[in-house]
Amino acid sequence: MSGLRSRVRRFLQKPGSASLSGYEELLPDIAGREETLRKLDDAALTAAAAGATGGAEICALGREAARRALGERPFDVQLLGTLALLAGQVAEMATGEGKTLSGALAAAGYVRRGHRVQVMSVNDYLARRDAEWMGPVYDLLGVSVGWVTQASAPEERRRAYAADVCYGSASEIGFDVLRDRLAISVAEQVTTEPDVILIDEADSVLVDEALVPLVLAGSAGAADSGREMAEIAGRLLPRLHYEVDDEHRNVFLTDAGTRIAEQSLGGINLYAEQNLDVLTQLNVALHARALLQRDVDYIVRDDRIQLISASRGRVARRQRWPDGLHAAVEAKEGLRASESGQILDSITVQALVRRYPVACGMTGTAVAAGEQLREFYGLEIAVIPPNLPCVREDEPDRLYRTAADKEDAVVRQVGDTRAAGRPVLIGTLDVAESERLAERMGEAGLSCVVLNAKNDAQEAAIVAEAGAAGAVTVSTQMAGRGTDIRLGGTHGDRDEVAGLGGLLVIGMGRHASSRLDDQLRGRSGRQGDPGGSVFFLSMDDELITTCVPDAPPVGAGPDGQVTDPKAHWTVGHAQRVAEGVQLQIHRDTWRYNTLLEDQRRTVLRHRDELLGTGVALSTLAAAFPGRAAALRETVPEEILEEAARQISLAQLDHAWAEYLAQAAEVREGINLRALGHGPNPFGGSLNPVQEYNREMTRLFSQFRDDITTLTGHAFQTITITADGADLAGGGLARPSATWTYVVQDNPFGTDFGRAVKAISRLLGQH
Ligand code: ADP
Ligand code: MG
Repeated sequence: MSGLRSRVRRFLQKPGSASLSGYEELLPDIAGREETLRKLDDAALTAAAAGATGGAEICALGREAARRALGERPFDVQLLGTLALLAGQVAEMATGEGKTLSGALAAAGYVRRGHRVQVMSVNDYLARRDAEWMGPVYDLLGVSVGWVTQASAPEERRRAYAADVCYGSASEIGFDVLRDRLAISVAEQVTTEPDVILIDEADSVLVDEALVPLVLAGSAGAADSGREMAEIAGRLLPRLHYEVDDEHRNVFLTDAGTRIAEQSLGGINLYAEQNLDVLTQLNVALHARALLQRDVDYIVRDDRIQLISASRGRVARRQRWPDGLHAAVEAKEGLRASESGQILDSITVQALVRRYPVACGMTGTAVAAGEQLREFYGLEIAVIPPNLPCVREDEPDRLYRTAADKEDAVVRQVGDTRAAGRPVLIGTLDVAESERLAERMGEAGLSCVVLNAKNDAQEAAIVAEAGAAGAVTVSTQMAGRGTDIRLGGTHGDRDEVAGLGGLLVIGMGRHASSRLDDQLRGRSGRQGDPGGSVFFLSMDDELITTCVPDAPPVGAGPDGQVTDPKAHWTVGHAQRVAEGVQLQIHRDTWRYNTLLEDQRRTVLRHRDELLGTGVALSTLAAAFPGRAAALRETVPEEILEEAARQISLAQLDHAWAEYLAQAAEVREGINLRALGHGPNPFGGSLNPVQEYNREMTRLFSQFRDDITTLTGHAFQTITITADGADLAGGGLARPSATWTYVVQDNPFGTDFGRAVKAISRLLGQH
């Protein structure tokens, strides 16, 4: 106890985190209840849980339930985590500390306090695994639990959300919210009123994936394939016809390039106001050609583009770029254009989370994401000490002059470690790198397992063996993976591997944030195990060439190793630049998104009213009394009410989809102008966000007027009989099919280039 206390003290000093002393004070109380609770039979334990609302009570009952149901008695630190979650904080707990259980006890506690909880899991596999794994604990506490995955049928979803606690991935929950928004009757909806959201791997969801839009699309005409633009872009030469900025984020036509493009397009002026569409398409095609790299940003498999998720470094299923860009990459690769459809609605992960009045979460790396968590979600962080002190040895970086020198050094290191039987996990930054490295190791006679996420369950099984004696595992991006690595693997001898020094983690380069480095390191040294970590870097690493393009040349030893402290400083500097840029991007995008989110809320309030009340008919009947009276002869009142509702909903949904398309255009147009492409009608002091907001405010009031007019018109013209309204006849047919996907990385969404420069300058002064 006193050991824990002193460790808590030490951890308390972490800046920017909440005090744990209030939780710590409850520990003796929790311990004091243990003996009595052990004497209760299961039914009595469940009965006792029914009335529990205090933190100490909940923790004591939870500890006893977990001991009985899982044979695992939660450690004090796990209960500190539970208490932090119950206080609405993000609990920082290292990998392997048992967050799944801490989270489940907190979820049960919220339920006992009268809430309904959704647990946001990393993926479908973990949603189901955790719900089933924690099921017996919930059972003993009298709490019902459900889970949703991509495979769940609507009826299963409805039941899962209706449970006290429901597990699901961010995208699955988001897609359900979107589908419910388009429901044409209350009975069709599956989700419940948002209440408490408990987020696993919270930084990954709330920071790395926060801005990813989840999209619901409906069938419409075939997408413009953009083949002509792809062809034109294909004829242009780098540097001569177009330039890519240092950050590889923007591509610009040169004068010569502009001339060629204008000629190919029949002699138009690309920068004329009326050709903004064409310029946008060409820019998209150039982006696809010059900035998106096969096997880094995407792979081509089964004649389809499959995106590689930047934050996960894995092939991402059901992800697309914004439509034009996706079609442009398909055209670049000579693939048939896939269906794109019309976007019916979309929501970012950040907006999804902000729907919940109460949010809390857990992760191994919260403090490093603290600024974002506070700024964008108002979340406080509680740093929970590990159950056993971490003894992992984090070695200093090994920096090399070239990428080849670095890879040679890594192969040598892996050879030595492997010879000793010690397991190695190598984290690479992209898929191409993992394959290259695996090949080089193969040449050196070192066999290894490469993780390329074919499916989450399989991946979890492979990761689980990464701690076995002699294992060499190569993997992209370990952040937010949710599976912890036990020494010895699932069947081997833990103590034998511990004796060899435990798992060695090798990083193939610093990530764009030190938090992701820490996630990788954290795979080693779980629960007080021995272990080590070391990063191999080179001056060729993209982080350095991108963020410190003018880094001075460095001297190196015979094997290419660089020891100059100035060069090491450059590495840290590059990472700080990248972190600054990402924060800036998050801020900018957030500013863009807020207005649209507010407008969406207004629209949804109106839609819910239409859906749940008779307001559609009363409004229309008041505006068009003649038409209403005429119908009331022939059409029974309930049918007329339903017809008015369906007309109003269909009109609203149609108009909203169009409004979203308009919003995207406005934003692309403003960004293009802000980037200096073409005329700037707003004068020199353009503030893109302000300009966007002004334009969107104007469009929104027009949208509202249009809805009234169009709905009135539809009510007067659409055939309404005792069978209801003929929506299809009136051009208001519902989409015949809908599907969902995730949009990645909108190249027009941010101004990375300018942000990098501004921030490099700022940091450069210190
Ligand atoms: P995290 O999500 O923090 O990385 P997990 O929830 O996946 O960790 O748990 C890691 C492992 O620790 C699991 O195998 C789990 O069974 C085990 N574990 C968790 N809590 C306890 C406990 N109190 N006693 C023993 N084992 C535990
Ligand atoms: Mg976990």
